[in-house]
Amino acid sequence: MTLDLLTENEDVTLSRLKKLLSSKEISSVELTKYFLERAKSKDDLGCFLSLTEEEALKQANKADEKIAKGEDAPLLGVPLAIKDVLTTDFGTTTCASKILENYHSPFNATVINKMLDAGAVLYGKTNLDEFAMGSSNENSSFKPVKNPWDTERVPGGSSGGSAAAVAARIAPASLGTDTGGSIRQPAAFCGITGIKPTYGRVSRYGLVAYASSLDQIGPLGLSAEDCALITRVISGKDPLDSTSMEMEVPAFDTEISKDIKGMKVGVPKEYFIDGMQSEVSEALAEAKKVLSDLGAEIVEISLPHTDAAVAAYYIIAPAECSSNLARFDGIKYGYRAEETHDLFDLYAETRSEGFGEEVKRRILIGTYVLSSGYYDAYYLKAQKVRRLIQNDFLQAFEDKCDVILAPTAPTTPFKIGENINDPLAMYLNDIFTIPLNLAGMPGMSLPCGFDGKNLPIGMQLIAGPWQEQRIFNVAHAYQDATDWHTRKPEGV
Ligand code: GLN
Repeated sequence: MTLDLLTENEDVTLSRLKKLLSSKEISSVELTKYFLERAKSKDDLGCFLSLTEEEALKQANKADEKIAKGEDAPLLGVPLAIKDVLTTDFGTTTCASKILENYHSPFNATVINKMLDAGAVLYGKTNLDEFAMGSSNENSSFKPVKNPWDTERVPGGSSGGSAAAVAARIAPASLGTDTGGSIRQPAAFCGITGIKPTYGRVSRYGLVAYASSLDQIGPLGLSAEDCALITRVISGKDPLDSTSMEMEVPAFDTEISKDIKGMKVGVPKEYFIDGMQSEVSEALAEAKKVLSDLGAEIVEISLPHTDAAVAAYYIIAPAECSSNLARFDGIKYGYRAEETHDLFDLYAETRSEGFGEEVKRRILIGTYVLSSGYYDAYYLKAQKVRRLIQNDFLQAFEDKCDVILAPTAPTTPFKIGENINDPLAMYLNDIFTIPLNLAGMPGMSLPCGFDGKNLPIGMQLIAGPWQEQRIFNVAHAYQDATDWHTRKPEGV
């Protein structure tokens, strides 16, 4: 490969790529080939489930024609990667599940159409935990993803492929989804930036549903600025998703450089728990100093129902999953068991063979908590807890602070295999990310340091509903003052 876009001082940020494209120093076709080549040469990381080379080169050619005519669009000619839980009418949409192994969607997700309308080139579908259920990417039916910072470790999940691809500069940015932390936790584990927007900000049409009241789509990238641009592109009311909201979409990216002097940053005491890796709390303490040097005021806050969040989530999410995944029955989509003797047997065999262990565990839990006699005791109670958690956040934003600063995960990335036989240990990974999904709040993870093993540490910035701009502004000011987000894994 002759083209080399990565030197010690240069990175593949969206703003740089856009400059190279608009000044015609590089064409979109060249750029697309560059990332396709990188993806192939780093195939051992397991980031992609499929590359959509032919379609991508067509899109890139179209972008080059537009650039030649002097046209512009927010992502014109920029190659991006997409989590394989978003439907595309080209290539396959597998959700990393055997049950959808050869599934071709007849339509594009709304976010895919929005990205294409903005000129993006979509060249591959990234690996994930099956149906986005997991925190390590080990639940992919096809292959695990390795963390580019240490290939014996997990990249986080469920958007592990999307995060590792950006960390390894196989993709300049990507789309992920976040139901309980699946954008933020892998962003933290891979040393990159990722945001889950407010519930309702981005259309979920064409996102294969896991837990519909929690799922949101968002970007993963090298900086808050890059994420801001993509968030602007994908946001907005969509008549095809009744839960998307009619709210003004701010110019997140162009408004990003606002001063954060006087901004109140709340630090919840419940987010610093026993058993947390000490280097994570140390990095957070440093981040507090940086923000206060930038003029922000740090205030202690309390989110008293935090400790009930994981339990409530693991009732609500499986309940919704058991209902959403009922559609995969061997009739309408994908995999069908062979030699079955009646309809019931066909359903049962197809689902037993097609779904992986974790997905089946969740369907069983979900069916149980929704069954008569248990509904009130579990599901209804969890919904009440959910409201209390939401009230905690609303109260804090009303009385005390503009944004909240918290760790993203209690530890840095663990080893592949370390937690896979202990679902509870795995579930506890999301202890700091899950509350936001339950409350519908937006949250970003961004790099804020490294541990003694040179593994990235992430911090979370949280805002009230529709207040993503505050997150972008604080994150951008922080990234202007620090260089954690510019570090690359060795060999990249
Ligand atoms: N790890 C959490 C789960 O397994 C969150 C996943 C997600 O956000 N998609 O459900």
